[in-house]
Amino acid sequence: MERGKTENRKVDGKLVAELEKLLPTDQVRTIGPELRVALQDGTGSRGIKGEADALVLPTDTEEVAKVLAWCYEHGVPLTVRGGGTGLAGGAVPDGGVVLSLERLDRIRSIDPELWRMEVEAGVRTATVHRIALENGLLFPPDPGASEQSTIGGNIATNAGGPHAFRYGVTGSWVTGIEAVVPPGEILTSGGPLRKNVAGLDLTGLMIASEGTLGIVTAAWLRLVPAPEERGVVVGFYPDARSGCDAIGMIMGSGIQPTALEFLDRGALESSLGSFPSQAPDKAGFAVIAETDGTPEEVTRVVDELEEAMTEGALLAPVRITDHSAIRAFWTWRDGVSIAVTAQRGGKISEDVVVPIEALADAVEETVAIGARHDLPACSWGHAGDGNLHSSFLVDLSNPDEMRRGNEAAAEIFDMAMRLGGSISGEHGIGSLKTAHVEDALGPVAVRLQAEVKKVFDPKLLLNPGKKIPLP
Ligand SMILES: Cc1cc2nc3c(=O)[nH]c(=O)nc-3n(C[C@H](O)[C@H](O)[C@H](O)COP(=O)(O)OP(=O)(O)OC[C@H]3O[C@@H](n4cnc5c(N)ncnc54)[C@H](O)[C@@H]3O)c2cc1C
Repeated sequence: MERGKTENRKVDGKLVAELEKLLPTDQVRTIGPELRVALQDGTGSRGIKGEADALVLPTDTEEVAKVLAWCYEHGVPLTVRGGGTGLAGGAVPDGGVVLSLERLDRIRSIDPELWRMEVEAGVRTATVHRIALENGLLFPPDPGASEQSTIGGNIATNAGGPHAFRYGVTGSWVTGIEAVVPPGEILTSGGPLRKNVAGLDLTGLMIASEGTLGIVTAAWLRLVPAPEERGVVVGFYPDARSGCDAIGMIMGSGIQPTALEFLDRGALESSLGSFPSQAPDKAGFAVIAETDGTPEEVTRVVDELEEAMTEGALLAPVRITDHSAIRAFWTWRDGVSIAVTAQRGGKISEDVVVPIEALADAVEETVAIGARHDLPACSWGHAGDGNLHSSFLVDLSNPDEMRRGNEAAAEIFDMAMRLGGSISGEHGIGSLKTAHVEDALGPVAVRLQAEVKKVFDPKLLLNPGKKIPLP
């Protein structure tokens, strides 16, 4: 599977010199480590790297508008970059300019009594979490790399994460956005209003648009009072079938955890050694459930979870209720992706989504697809949403393994669609999956999306080759 290639329009030296005059000197890089970093995102672990002539670092919305207007005037492609943690190659440039939002990092306002804040797009997700908590509030979306990812990137991918199961994905928490759209205009859509149905939903259109329609420069976020307590229960099972039966028991009992996660045998083999609580030496599947609320509610629901998760478990479900132990647990869970990558130095990982009743099939088929391509395979992810990170472990320096890994990944998309699912649950399409979009969405949806793209970006300069297949 090739990265979606576009006609790579090289920016000549004269244009680069002009660009350098557009912004103060410390805001344009044409060589050096910062530009090199901007050529990759989270897909670096599968060996993907782009090319660009310049990295620009605007400090406010007006400067973003100035850069986009310049690119539009000169026909220069522009790739938008947040924290560069994306796993679909969305921030990997194909020539032209990379525009990083990292210096738009101000909290514009916070109204704790009204449960809302307005932040610039370059603010890190973890910073939003921390500031909300300091004010007794919760911003629930929690994609795994939240210390590095930005709110702009979360909005552009409509990021999920473990707690999306109860609380929903990023878009559910965005009431408005400020964005720069071609040819360099500032669009304000929505705002602090919690409800607003005037006009077409342009905020909704920008969410998950992966930098192909405009550049998000700020957002209004909805918050909720932070829960007083949390409790985690982890069950270990011999295999995917018995683990998925436990998931069925939880949901069938009417318990609604805030997060419902899983790890299969291969993911556990990579990560169980650093599990911060008691665990069996070996397990074929783990189910993780978290709940939150008042101390009484948490105790009651943790008891119910324990009961629902006992049948078929290898040992009594592990109960984690101490604050620091819960923090250590989620640090471990966030590290699973890195632990899996460390096995062979690289991984080709896809984030397909299937109906929850097909999760065990998808987990087993992932391993079978890997075996057919002679590659170790595993999966983990957000069980309650049927969203699995199907991964093939590869040696990045072995071209034959990389080819087999990419072929296996293409089979994962076919598998997800055959099981009634789709090609991406949360990481997006980026440059890696555009070739599969028509199969997933059908020709009518693809035609309409291409028309929408042309309305926003008639010169097709924003994140070219990403997200939306164009004729
Ligand atoms: C270890 C690890 C765990 C992860 N876990 C999860 C998870 O649980 N759930 C999940 O959903 N994702 C997860 N991800 C993927 C990634 O973190 C998210 O997709 C995140 O939202 C990307 O944010 P970013 O700021 O890094 O965006 P980038 O990677 O910089 O960009 C992602 C896309 O958004 C566009 N973009 C970025 N900023 C803007 C902007 N301001 N305006 C317009 N477009 C923009 C880019 O052009 C690109 O197409 C994980 C990644 C890693 C490495």
